[in-house]
Amino acid sequence: MGKRALSIDAGTFACFLRNPRGGDAKPVKADDIESFMIMKKEHSFGPLVAHSPYTMNACSADPSIRDFALRVMKEDIRIMDLIPGNYYNFHPGSHVKQGVDIGIGFIAGMLNDALFDEQSTIVLLETMSGKGSEIGRSFEELRRIIDSVNLKNKIGVCFDTCHVWDAGYDIVGNLDGVLDEFDRVIGIEYLKAVHLNDSMNTCGSHKDRHAKIGEGHIGLEAIVRTVCHPALKNLPFILETPNDMDGYASEIRLLKSRSI
Ligand code: FE
Ligand code: FE
Ligand code: ZN
Repeated sequence: MGKRALSIDAGTFACFLRNPRGGDAKPVKADDIESFMIMKKEHSFGPLVAHSPYTMNACSADPSIRDFALRVMKEDIRIMDLIPGNYYNFHPGSHVKQGVDIGIGFIAGMLNDALFDEQSTIVLLETMSGKGSEIGRSFEELRRIIDSVNLKNKIGVCFDTCHVWDAGYDIVGNLDGVLDEFDRVIGIEYLKAVHLNDSMNTCGSHKDRHAKIGEGHIGLEAIVRTVCHPALKNLPFILETPNDMDGYASEIRLLKSRSI
């Protein structure tokens, strides 16, 4: 995975630790960890941003689904801790008619059961588009989760540009204002990573359909401003655009040429 990232001149990458649809994690080989650590250092890779399985729903009404979310979170933190100091991102979850308050309670409860003092992995809540009953559609909802988490130094936020835009934050017309609001509501120090995507839909559509960079409603100029923004430019940026490896390579080339 690291080699593939290098081949397209990427400075970091995201990965799944198990099938994104769920299932058990693959056993991690000590050799793989060692060679990855060497590569990471040699090429001064930025922090990794692993992604939890999409089937994880920490605030499901079904206790067995909540248990699965807790088990995955605990196991994946252990795996991530084998390569210390990286990020593990997850979708907070969908409350499905239980209401936001109950949903937030379950998510914070799961985090309080999973996070522990000695872990070096930081767990990131992803900003969501607000499709269906997704929690994390507003900075306020993320703040409420963080407020209820005991180990606040183990938690952060991953800012997904497509999701934030679809949720109704105008990062095209007023990026500074959106980031000021993030700072006021959550605190900019919690912002640890960016998922960089264009969006097939308009601001506030609550849809969550990613577009290639420059081919959606956010557009290249706003994406370049995001990459170059002083509050963001040192964070890991992860592309989740609908692309093959050649597509990612050309997006990275384009963005690097525009971000001086
Ligand atoms: Fe995601
Ligand atoms: Fe994302
Ligand atoms: Zn998405």
